[in-house]
Amino acid sequence: MVEMETIVSLCKRRGFIFPSSEIYGGFNSCWDYGPLGVELKNNVKRAWWKAVVQMRDDMVGLDGSILMHPKVWEASGHVANFSDPMVDCRACKLRFRADQVDPNEKCVETKGPHDLTESRQFNMMFRTHVGPVEDGAAVAYLRPETAQAIFVNFSNVQNTMRKKLPFGVAQIGKAFRNEITPGNFTFRTREFEQMEIEFFVKPGTDDEWHQQWIDARRQWYLDLGMKKENLQLREHEQDELAHYARRCVDIEYSFPIGWSELEGIANRTDFDLKQHTEFSGKDLTWFDPETNEHVMPCVIEPSAGADRATLAFLVDAYDEEVVRDRQRVVLRLHKDLAPNKVAVLPLLRNRPEIVDLARKIAGDLRPSMACMYDDTASIGKLYRRQDEIGTLYCVTVDVDSLTDHAVTIRERDSMEQVRVPVEAVVRTLKEKILG
Ligand code: ATP
Repeated sequence: MVEMETIVSLCKRRGFIFPSSEIYGGFNSCWDYGPLGVELKNNVKRAWWKAVVQMRDDMVGLDGSILMHPKVWEASGHVANFSDPMVDCRACKLRFRADQVDPNEKCVETKGPHDLTESRQFNMMFRTHVGPVEDGAAVAYLRPETAQAIFVNFSNVQNTMRKKLPFGVAQIGKAFRNEITPGNFTFRTREFEQMEIEFFVKPGTDDEWHQQWIDARRQWYLDLGMKKENLQLREHEQDELAHYARRCVDIEYSFPIGWSELEGIANRTDFDLKQHTEFSGKDLTWFDPETNEHVMPCVIEPSAGADRATLAFLVDAYDEEVVRDRQRVVLRLHKDLAPNKVAVLPLLRNRPEIVDLARKIAGDLRPSMACMYDDTASIGKLYRRQDEIGTLYCVTVDVDSLTDHAVTIRERDSMEQVRVPVEAVVRTLKEKILG
């Protein structure tokens, strides 16, 4: 298993993820996605959207605002319940989650155990003020989950899209939690992106739909190349369940920090729509034309993190091997996830005819796939660099290309090389990558 440090270092070195505000010393476990990171994360989000919205007849999308009416968070229970029990060390002033204090850790002040306070509840929502006056009436929260925008839009979506139960709404967006112990790279941060589904079903069919979503979501990671042995399902114990949940199953990944949650799939019953009906005074039931009755839908919620999924795909794809006495690092990312599909490399950068041909091939590929042109090192180094960022194919233009009008296509995983006529490059690669 690769160390987290190795992944962090690769991400920094190759332009996937940088510490936020680095020139000021970084900021509080915040991270910025660099040129390759943004492509990778976009590909993760695109693959999710395709699987859960585009490929299904029973799903639609939504993009809700981050700031919402403060009543939303009262109705959802976040104002009252979204908190962790916290303890402070009186000596070193550090704050810990009560369930996460390491009894062996020494306090830097007392050099002995921490001098801990009683635990207190600490609300994890970021508060802000909306408008020019910073008084209590103007308090708003940065959303701690994307889900609530879906619940409050239930009727809007249902009416405008003329949906019948069962149907679901998917959303991708930023969420904010004032986590006490952020860390482990992008695994736990205070600003992160969620990919959430609320799937509304008739009461009585919820258990069956819950199981279907558990299976579908696990399969999504496998379809994108994640190794089976690195995924497991974990059933929540009864005493661990949130007050609204009937059953919850986590999809866990074997991260370098151990098995940890990648996605949670909960049966939230009819709790959310009932709460919002009560707090807003609006009827959020669904009229069943078959029985002529109003029903309060139950909700299945597969809730994934875009950053955690991206990190898991990176860890899963990382590989080191020795080829002809030289070590190579290769990111064996699935073709749909690789940030660059192709790199076009001229063998000699001081031969204008070679450079021109290479640039032309790159230009021809760009409308169909993410393609990079690179002539900044020797071919051996360029191949290694592309392997390290997971590029699927390298197209090399050499001296012979000028006479035989053919180029070499090298595949990332097998390193096999084939000679292909220049005019067949786009078609060949489209077949391999998109076909
Ligand atoms: P955890 O137990 O790890 O704190 P959670 O159970 O509170 O997570 P949920 O509320 O179920 O998480 O959120 C759904 C998903 O959002 C998680 O499975 C995870 O992928 C992602 N997520 C939650 N909190 C964070 C965070 N602080 N940083 C990055 N991703 C997060």
